[in-house]
Amino acid sequence: MNPRTLTALPLLITLLLGCEQDVSVPVPGISPHLVQRSSQVPRRPVPSTLPTVEYHITREQVAVQAILPEVDVEEEPAESSAPPSEAAPPPFKPGEFLGAPFKAGTLEQRTWYAGETYYGSAIPTPVLVASGEEPGQTLCITAAIHGDELNGIETVRRVMYELDTKKLKGIVIGVPIVNLQGFQRHSRYLPDRRDLNRYFPGNRDGSSASRMAYSFFREVIMHCNGLVDLHTGSFHRTNLPQLRANLNDNSVVALTEGFGSTVILHSDGAEGTLRHAALAAGIPAVTLEAGEPLRVNEEHVTHSVKGIFTLLDTLGMYNRRSLWGNPEPVYYTATWLRADVGGILSSEVRLGKRVRKGDLLGTVTDPITNEQREVHSPHDGRIIGMALDQFVMPGFAVYHLGLQAPVEEATQDPSEIIVDNTVAQTDVIDDH
Ligand SMILES: [Zn+2]
Repeated sequence: MNPRTLTALPLLITLLLGCEQDVSVPVPGISPHLVQRSSQVPRRPVPSTLPTVEYHITREQVAVQAILPEVDVEEEPAESSAPPSEAAPPPFKPGEFLGAPFKAGTLEQRTWYAGETYYGSAIPTPVLVASGEEPGQTLCITAAIHGDELNGIETVRRVMYELDTKKLKGIVIGVPIVNLQGFQRHSRYLPDRRDLNRYFPGNRDGSSASRMAYSFFREVIMHCNGLVDLHTGSFHRTNLPQLRANLNDNSVVALTEGFGSTVILHSDGAEGTLRHAALAAGIPAVTLEAGEPLRVNEEHVTHSVKGIFTLLDTLGMYNRRSLWGNPEPVYYTATWLRADVGGILSSEVRLGKRVRKGDLLGTVTDPITNEQREVHSPHDGRIIGMALDQFVMPGFAVYHLGLQAPVEEATQDPSEIIVDNTVAQTDVIDDH
């Protein structure tokens, strides 16, 4: 294998594990010597570009090729994410949205222009606006910032077209496909391989991704009183519908309490994500991750739509209360279990299953020697995310184990927990 490829692989795999930073926190009941504090865990820096990888296809590289960049990001000087204040255009007019006033009692399609293509045309991006007949808050729902994440697109469609604006108080803004260029290419990224969700709030003089982020943040997001950003698991992994939220912020905690019985994980959100930038601008924001990329998962879309309508009801914007088996929000700490050998992963558990300590979760089988290694759960918990059956390398994160915890315990710093590395290694995935 090419030495540069070998060097790049661990970083790439870490980079690509999920939409957002997954956070694991100390597990109640774990003895202190097993818990390494976050200050001892070196946080990996966020690279401004993905590393260059050369292509020499060999048999063992085939599985890796699927997640390697199609085109490398060009080298550019580092840029500031903060827009230069002296060059900033005048603020938008209050009450106007994308060029026109809100129209009470209507569902409209408007257009946000997302930068320019190589041939100079602006990219018209549809934005749906449901304006209630009565005034109220403005909730924004964004999807497909990563162009291969389809569940959010269908979730936005259903929410927007099921709303009756005669009964709505306030405004719901739905953006089904923020990253149209990625969506058209079935890709998470922008055409230059940048991840749009690392460039908010953007810079109008920066890279194309940064300019797009700046425009979207200013033209759309700054109108919101609350934000739900829809995502999925990424790269051959799937997530039980789950909120990622900064539970150190009371306005965000209040938002999470509106989603009915949905898994909630604490995470600050990586700098540059839309959620992080919105909260920094005073807009309470959560990420709702559900299902896997490149698929429309009916059960996860149904859960997401139900959660958003429950939120609208909780916010007093819309009277539609759904029945949940357990109406309370469910806060979790979470930790990833990794395979410690390479081979083909065969799972014995399904997403969402509640497991007991010692339960068999899956096996990893060496395709050459037929040797099998089992992955067992080190705790009682729930499978809130998992890898799809596939070939895995040693160290591959295979099961995201959630451990129910009171909200105050879900806000502790990320830590590394080594449980039993002869069975499975449990640690943090810091997947900026
Ligand atoms: Zn995503």
